[in-house]
Amino acid sequence: MDQQQEQKKSGSSILNDIQAAQSGLKIGRFLISQGAKLLSGIGGPVLLTIGLIFLGVFVVGFAGIPGGSGGTTPQPSQPPISITPPPGGLRQSIMDRFGIIMNGFDNQQLQWAWEKFLSVSGTRFNGLVKGVTIIADNDSRQVDNNTIYLKKLTQQDLFNVVLTHELGHIIRWRTDSYIAELRQAISQEGYVTSYSANAPSCTGSDKFNEDYAEMIAYYLNPASPSQTASRCSSGSNPYINNGFRLHYNIARQILGTF
Ligand SMILES: [Zn+2]
Repeated sequence: MDQQQEQKKSGSSILNDIQAAQSGLKIGRFLISQGAKLLSGIGGPVLLTIGLIFLGVFVVGFAGIPGGSGGTTPQPSQPPISITPPPGGLRQSIMDRFGIIMNGFDNQQLQWAWEKFLSVSGTRFNGLVKGVTIIADNDSRQVDNNTIYLKKLTQQDLFNVVLTHELGHIIRWRTDSYIAELRQAISQEGYVTSYSANAPSCTGSDKFNEDYAEMIAYYLNPASPSQTASRCSSGSNPYINNGFRLHYNIARQILGTF
């Protein structure tokens, strides 16, 4: 119906325009307007069809994206990780993929380590600790640039924190970088956890070096409460609610975005 009305109007318009064209004044406008009408008459339905097809593809595609920006599901702080044990055994797979040797651990701790190394593989962490030997023991400590002892902890969250803490010591001594920046951060924000603030009385360790390791550990375990030396102190993760931004930014510069 609208199309017929448009055609009538078009015919009337043609006559008017022809008369105007005879005066030699409106010939240009006549050609342009008729050209536009011709294009719209031919192209209109075609463009409408193409438009509907694109709209359909967009709607289906948008609805089909899991966790797309239109969804309301909150994003997890860490991406889900495949926990399927790799063929050949976990210990061998950790060695093959990450260059880390783990001696004396049960399958459970190897599984947690495998998952943790995978979860941080988008950062520089694995490259910075490559070649380290981790030895199961009754306590956790860093020995040298290539060796740490790690307690066979039975709680995954604590295991992950202590694993990355001890390897954080390795990064500090291997890279020997961001030392001045961290001292400045401590002077402005204080020590990043209660443990690093009380390291001498807690474990006989050095405040600054423990602060470095704690800075790394809680950056890579953002959902974990502060618990490294759980017999001494515990608390919330120092980085929640935008806490300890100077420490956080140093960790991000060392490791990259996590
Ligand atoms: Zn430590």
